[in-house]
Amino acid sequence: MSTVQSTGLRMRVSEKFGGTVQGEGASTGVPACFIRLALCNLICAGCDTPYTWDTSRFDLREESYFASVEELLAWALDQPEDLVVVSGGEPLLQMAGLTALVQGLRAAGRAVEIETNGTIAPSPELVAAGPRFNVSPKLSRFGAAMPQTRRIIPDVLRAFAATGLARFKFVVCEPGEVAEVAALEAAYGLTNISVMPEGTTPEAVLAGMRALEVAVREHGYRLGTRLHVLMWGDERGR
Ligand code: SF4
Repeated sequence: MSTVQSTGLRMRVSEKFGGTVQGEGASTGVPACFIRLALCNLICAGCDTPYTWDTSRFDLREESYFASVEELLAWALDQPEDLVVVSGGEPLLQMAGLTALVQGLRAAGRAVEIETNGTIAPSPELVAAGPRFNVSPKLSRFGAAMPQTRRIIPDVLRAFAATGLARFKFVVCEPGEVAEVAALEAAYGLTNISVMPEGTTPEAVLAGMRALEVAVREHGYRLGTRLHVLMWGDERGR
């Protein structure tokens, strides 16, 4: 068991699991462990982790629990994987705890990726800790309940781009939506862009990749996948 200093900070956690690989983004296939934090500031139609935030369908008292930063840190440092992915929900809602967690992981030599929807700017302290940010802005198809002013925050996207630590990852259903990605790229200086299909079955993911391939290539983006879905469908804890 690793020993870590107490921060006094507690975080609301949905689940954590190791013994897997990063399923999305530039580190696809890299052995990783995951800490999934509860709570989100968006309400995306088609969200694949609604149990982290949707109180109309889930009881968050059963779906989440509180853990201290040092408990999470000790758990992560006991996992054999070098890469720790902090996902959600929206992890940046818990900025203080997240920063302390990332600082501890980085001090111990672990690589850290934070999966974020890109609507909350990272604090200078979090950026200085040196995680990678996998930023996934939500396109218009994520629901009429989310106008652009809620899901696209220009100053925040520019702030992520300016860190030099961000990769932008878009979930797209139709090839035509890649033009929406290109508009955001041009407006906010986004770089390191990948486009991946929606889908919770291997068949849907593969069909989406085939449908998107030409448009993604024409824009010079990276075609992403959902490796965990290809291997395990929508099984939780994978
Ligand atoms: S930002 Fe992510 S976790 Fe939050 S509602 Fe949208 S898809 Fe779900």
